[in-house]
Amino acid sequence: MKVGITGGIGSGKTTVCKIFEVLGIPVYYADDRAKQLMVTHPELIKKIKSLFSEAAYYADGSLNRPYIAHLAFNNAHLLAQLNAAVHPIVQEDATQWHQQQQAPYTLKEAALLFESGSFRNLDKVITVYAPIEVRIQRVMQRDQVSKSQVISRIEKQLSDADKIQLADFVITNNGQTLLIPQIKHIHQRLLQSLC
Ligand code: ATP
Repeated sequence: MKVGITGGIGSGKTTVCKIFEVLGIPVYYADDRAKQLMVTHPELIKKIKSLFSEAAYYADGSLNRPYIAHLAFNNAHLLAQLNAAVHPIVQEDATQWHQQQQAPYTLKEAALLFESGSFRNLDKVITVYAPIEVRIQRVMQRDQVSKSQVISRIEKQLSDADKIQLADFVITNNGQTLLIPQIKHIHQRLLQSLC
């Protein structure tokens, strides 16, 4: 079974995934893997260069992130084309990875699981929820960015209400509700649904 896990920036997706890993569940970190594929997958590199020119990559083959971000975030069409190039390749890579796993179910972690449409290829989805003020504080502290920078990233994502409505399970990570019992409960329910 393929289970997706999503949530707004700073909600604690990665933190929750680390706990699932302790329970023996393999996790595919889609956003990290996408970054890797953008510098290793020949077809994707070619496509990105065709969209953004050769300047999209530094001489050492690493991605010129500031250049791409500047162009893509000021041009919705270009951003859509970039996403359309990256998503199928990550999707294919995730499918191959999933086939190699032996666990009863796997997790795919992605910030934009609903926005990208990739939730349609998953059997269940978990949304990690944290109040917006908590998320802003966490991201400001983790990434050393300003409040307005975090808010501008939040505004690019689907609302929490939508993510909760579309999910099969919700984990509250507000810093007060214990995480481990919530995760163990979902883990048990997922295992039972396989019986
Ligand atoms: P992003 O979308 O930016 O990748 P994320 O949803 O994966 O974020 P995390 O990286 O797991 O979120 O968490 C954001 C920050 O908040 C991290 O520094 C993490 O250590 C911290 N954090 C997450 N959950 C908790 C918690 N329950 N208590 C304390 N700190 C937490």
